Amino acid sequence: MPKKLAILGSTGSIGTQTLDVAAAHPDEFEVAALAAGSNLPVMIQQIEKFRPALVSVATPSLAAELKERFGGTLQVEVGEAGLHAVATYSEAEIVVTAVVGAMGLRPTIAAIEAGKDIALANKETLVAAGHLVTDLAARHGSRILPVDSEHSAIFQCIHGTNQKDVAKILLTASGGAFRDKSRKEMAAASRADALAHPNWSMGAKITIDSATLMNKGLEVIEAHWLFGLPYEQIEVLIHPQSIIHSMVEFRDRSVLAQLGTPDMRIPIQYALSYPNRLESSWPSLDLLSVGTLTFRKPDLVRFPILGLAYEAGKAGGSMPAVLNAANEAAVDLFLREKIGFLDIERILMQVMEQHTSIHHPTLDDIAAVDQWAREAARRLGKS
Ligand code: NDP
Ligand code: MG
Repeated sequence: MPKKLAILGSTGSIGTQTLDVAAAHPDEFEVAALAAGSNLPVMIQQIEKFRPALVSVATPSLAAELKERFGGTLQVEVGEAGLHAVATYSEAEIVVTAVVGAMGLRPTIAAIEAGKDIALANKETLVAAGHLVTDLAARHGSRILPVDSEHSAIFQCIHGTNQKDVAKILLTASGGAFRDKSRKEMAAASRADALAHPNWSMGAKITIDSATLMNKGLEVIEAHWLFGLPYEQIEVLIHPQSIIHSMVEFRDRSVLAQLGTPDMRIPIQYALSYPNRLESSWPSLDLLSVGTLTFRKPDLVRFPILGLAYEAGKAGGSMPAVLNAANEAAVDLFLREKIGFLDIERILMQVMEQHTSIHHPTLDDIAAVDQWAREAARRLGKS
């Protein structure tokens, strides 16, 4: 029997690549439910190709268009309630969380409470509420399978080993669009400069996060929750070729790495097929053409946001949720060309300074600090 999938964010970069994986393995996967925002043309193509039973879109008018086009055969839901319906759809066994930002938190929690396995792309969810999400998943017996390439690499390296044998995780980072740029060049960088990622083609928000190294900071916090390790045992290495997706050093000093072409379909497929591996037709890794793999230490002077993320992670409580929400608001301002590139770090530092972390925040606490941090970031964006 094919595994039934629900996808939150089906029209985005991860969502469409998840559907590529499903299309490549029609005997393994069936698309049961899809949720997207407002990209109706792509949603229509997806409905025609994969024939889900349930879909959700952001507004009632988009939903009305879908109902008119597909008649009574398709259940169409709207907005937050629609995301919830897709996340908890009774037929679905695994939910791929590929919406951007902390808006993924409530539907992910709902999916876990409904006993679904989670193929987790939406890292902001674990950053904002890692303690709640991991506790709930343990209580409901729901597995959180990482889609993020670094975490998939670590997950593969530690498979079958004892957690006490892990000495540290080495998270690799491409270095993003400004890997070799000076502070002066970053200060003058445009939206287009920051969106020009050297190795990966991704959604706009994560591409800006890669340029600031916030993406790596979010991933450090994501790794802390996924693998239950203290921050002292999570290290970041700049690896410009993006071939080693991450490594694990064990206490006997043996190091395992996972390698592959920079193609998100590989970790997406592993999350969906785990613990099995499926045949793929995508190109093999050609190490001879890669030639050299290099590594260097991240430069926290040029990229202070990575340091801020470690600080927020170690502070714990509500601080990571505040950092994440302020970042979402600041990146949005940058993408709308309201602030400069280095204003992002200025805003994050100031918002974190203004916040006193709440220990063991509830979901309501997280929603409140999230809203406060976004407003504070927008205010700081004007000054
Ligand atoms: P995209 O911006 O490409 O896609 C975002 C998706 O979310 C789209 O389908 C969009 O729909 C949907 N969406 C937006 N607003 C709403 C809403 N209100 N209700 C429902 N759906 C909505 O993002 P990515 O695919 O790049 O990233 C998704 C997540 O995966 C992020 O958390 C990112 O950090 C993570 N990730 C991404 C990687 C990548 O390679 N892209 C790698 C590792 C992690 P629409 O377009 O129809 O409005
Ligand atoms: Mg990643």
